[in-house]
Amino acid sequence: MKQNIKAFLDQVRKRNGHEPEFLQAVEEVAETVIPYIVKHDIYYGKNILLRMVEPERLISFRVSWVDDRGEIQVNRGYRVQMNSAIGPYKGGLRFHPTVNASILKFLAFEQVFKNSLTTLPMGGGKGGSDFDPKGKSDNEIMRFCHAFMSELFRYIGPNTDVPAGDIGVGTREIGFLFGMYKKLRNEFTGVLTGKGMSWGGSLIRPEATGYGNVYFAQKMLETKNDSIEGKNVIISGSGNVAQYAAEKVLQLGGKVLTLSDSSGYIVDEDGIDTDKLAFVMELKNVKRGRISEYVESYPNAKFVEGKTPWGEKCDVALPCATQNELQEDDAKTLLKNGCICVSEGANMPSTKAAIAAFHKAKILFAPGKASNAGGVATSGLEMTQNSLRFKWSREEVDSKLKEIMSDIHKSCTEYGKDDDGYVDYVKGANIAGFVKVADAMLAQGI
Ligand code: GLU
Repeated sequence: MKQNIKAFLDQVRKRNGHEPEFLQAVEEVAETVIPYIVKHDIYYGKNILLRMVEPERLISFRVSWVDDRGEIQVNRGYRVQMNSAIGPYKGGLRFHPTVNASILKFLAFEQVFKNSLTTLPMGGGKGGSDFDPKGKSDNEIMRFCHAFMSELFRYIGPNTDVPAGDIGVGTREIGFLFGMYKKLRNEFTGVLTGKGMSWGGSLIRPEATGYGNVYFAQKMLETKNDSIEGKNVIISGSGNVAQYAAEKVLQLGGKVLTLSDSSGYIVDEDGIDTDKLAFVMELKNVKRGRISEYVESYPNAKFVEGKTPWGEKCDVALPCATQNELQEDDAKTLLKNGCICVSEGANMPSTKAAIAAFHKAKILFAPGKASNAGGVATSGLEMTQNSLRFKWSREEVDSKLKEIMSDIHKSCTEYGKDDDGYVDYVKGANIAGFVKVADAMLAQGI
């Protein structure tokens, strides 16, 4: 078995050796899925995983735009169309200076498994740019988004590839992108998700990733006859995912102790309650301020500069910031401090060594491709509503989201339960996600 995994990874490394994040995501999948392939004749010997790690199409394009001083700026835009076996490519756009082909390939690869897990017919893709939205005016954001879409439009469409938001891309950016797409194609379609409520967006879409993550944590805790109620919860990040994860924790009776951004974290021993969370939402979404400003209004809280919150004592940890934000040492500290449940809101926030530490301690651990799938699942529900030219109520979408998270939990348990009864959610998510895509690829031929 070890030999099969090694031979496979050698081939992948040869072609992608300079892409560390992508290799990390592929290694994690290979280690859990190859043993399953070897045991099942229908998949064995067909190089099916080797086909899955190669994007169907990788598009890169120039984005030139004019800043407020009248100077011409140049960025690079991308779209990775990873796999369309079970539906049109689907996945977010990330605008962040760290964006490169490795990061987008890892995100697109994860998206294939995640989308498959949602039970909805969506393939996997991801895109974005190394454009840094920080400090840019609304007009600059608009000009960049328009320039970006004036290239991207030729590769996407409601039945081809449906982008959405990710880090640096929210409702405002989706609006500008949609405006340009509509101008160029002269059609009003569901080509993007995360749209505004008055022009085709779905209720609960903004909340969905954070809510879904907490629903998943709740499902995991239920297997131990436990719940979020009364739990001390630490959350990293303070963007869309973190904000709504915090909101749902509060609704379910948990206590939120931390939030963070790239400059550090805040810890509030009194708990970040609904009013304080409303302050954070205003601070981050409207004023686009830094989380450190929280302590000016709530002096009982502490701002810890340049650090992540993993040293704080907690029962539950929700990493909702970005990839590789939780390392092996952090995992060991969390375990030492009594953490019993980690549910990832971000994509691949825990390193491989951190996950190994959680597994060794046999605590509840959910990988993002399962626990943060509520966002893209609700994007799928937005696509459905657009196709039907219909709109569901908050309650309808929320109950569908809850049901999907519960189904994902069930699939992970089915494929991830070890002989001793411990559920390895990483293994479960990878195999369950793989089976559906692999079956479709086999049915469709080479
Ligand atoms: N960017 C989100 C994710 O990582 C959402 C993608 C979507 O809605 O298409 O899953």
